[in-house]
Amino acid sequence: MTEEFNYLRRILLDFDHGVELLGEKTEPVDPGLVELLKSPSKRLSVQFPVKMDNGTLEIFRGYRVQHSKLYEPTKGGIRYSPDVDLSVITALAMDMTLKCRVVDLPFGGAKGGVICNPREMSPDELERMTRRYTFEISSMIGPDSDVPAPDIGTGPKEMGIIFDTYKMFNQKAPDAYAVVTGKPLSLGGCRARLEATAQGGAYVLEEAVKQGCARGLTSLKDATVIVQGFGNVGFHTANILHKDYGCKIIGISDSKGGIYNPKGFSPSDVLKYKTDEKNEKKSVIGYEARNTLAIDEFLTKECDILVPAAKETQIVGSIADDIKTKVILELANGPTTNLADKILFEKDVYLIPDILANTGGVTVSYCEWLQNKEGTQWETDIVNNILREKMTTAYRDLVFTVKSYDVTTREGAYILATSRAIQVIKDRGIFP
Ligand code: NAD
Repeated sequence: MTEEFNYLRRILLDFDHGVELLGEKTEPVDPGLVELLKSPSKRLSVQFPVKMDNGTLEIFRGYRVQHSKLYEPTKGGIRYSPDVDLSVITALAMDMTLKCRVVDLPFGGAKGGVICNPREMSPDELERMTRRYTFEISSMIGPDSDVPAPDIGTGPKEMGIIFDTYKMFNQKAPDAYAVVTGKPLSLGGCRARLEATAQGGAYVLEEAVKQGCARGLTSLKDATVIVQGFGNVGFHTANILHKDYGCKIIGISDSKGGIYNPKGFSPSDVLKYKTDEKNEKKSVIGYEARNTLAIDEFLTKECDILVPAAKETQIVGSIADDIKTKVILELANGPTTNLADKILFEKDVYLIPDILANTGGVTVSYCEWLQNKEGTQWETDIVNNILREKMTTAYRDLVFTVKSYDVTTREGAYILATSRAIQVIKDRGIFP
């Protein structure tokens, strides 16, 4: 794998660069602290059998990584995908440490995943796999130690199963609901959690436009938007920007390809088409058939706002050259490579980096965890007000950092995260 495509390597490079910039302005950062912040605290790799519907046994490999215990519990999603490996999960866990510092939540970073293709598994197989995986990582997870959440390939159903499995082994735990977030409402889930990552991204985008940072874009009304990925984050982003802000969603894609129409789509109609029983491909492709686009053509269509909401390493150097947008709102984790970053900066594209843009999910997860600890359930308005406040404050802190250090938005986000993490370590001291 080349440097450009190795996600963990890219995060470590960005981190080192942030530390360097921080040291130039203040005092140089203790190399021991830098090493501590780069080293994952605990990594568990498990292999386990699952009985498949046809009676055969299949062996699955899964991981859980706790990156940093600056604060506990650690927090991070669980990914079901054929692309999962220990390096990607470690990178995503480090991302979570940085995100929690940018948006100022008292969590450390973690991530987990299983190598599998959930689209090719039956609901029963997925349930058995989820229960066994939960059992395998049970030494790590708990309401005060490590709290999983949804990510690619998982959602409220899997989170409900994780809660139930944990509860079977912890009958007397008074706060068992707090072992996992992103649960269904009936199991202590939080209102507005499902769309939280998208809503958080929308709040940041709105603030960027308000502050005049969005390269001449003065309003979101009629702004043209292309969204890559049409799962939880992609659909809700398209839907919120269309319904609440009046944006025109001119492009939508999933793993099979994209659709494009300058007149705009109704995201909820496209979702209906994608999830229709008769649509065997379960893809957006075929919706207004003449407007189908290949995956590599999709990201380079002209628009005001480009939203990568699929997976890491999508906007690479060769694509960045041809990108024609004013703003990139990174809702996926790690969608843009370092080389692409440089090209986009030179082209004056305004980038809202992932470790700020997609923290809406973990912010509302924090709300869910607090509610589970208190035994309450808040109304949607309360959750969304907290989300807006947290996201806009973090964005203003980023703008301030970018100005103070005269750096790019990605560099600013890393400086913000690193300086706050270092402060936590200094305040706690090192045991013993
Ligand atoms: P999901 O599994 O619900 O959806 C992923 C979507 O991406 C699917 O529609 C899939 O078809 C599509 N996709 C995959 N490869 C693609 C490609 N090459 N081109 C276009 N589309 C492609 O996952 P999600 O929860 O929506 O997560 C999406 C991204 O957002 C991931 O990077 C995830 O880590 C990040 N994220 C998610 C959350 C959350 O709360 N779910 C929070 C923070 C960050």
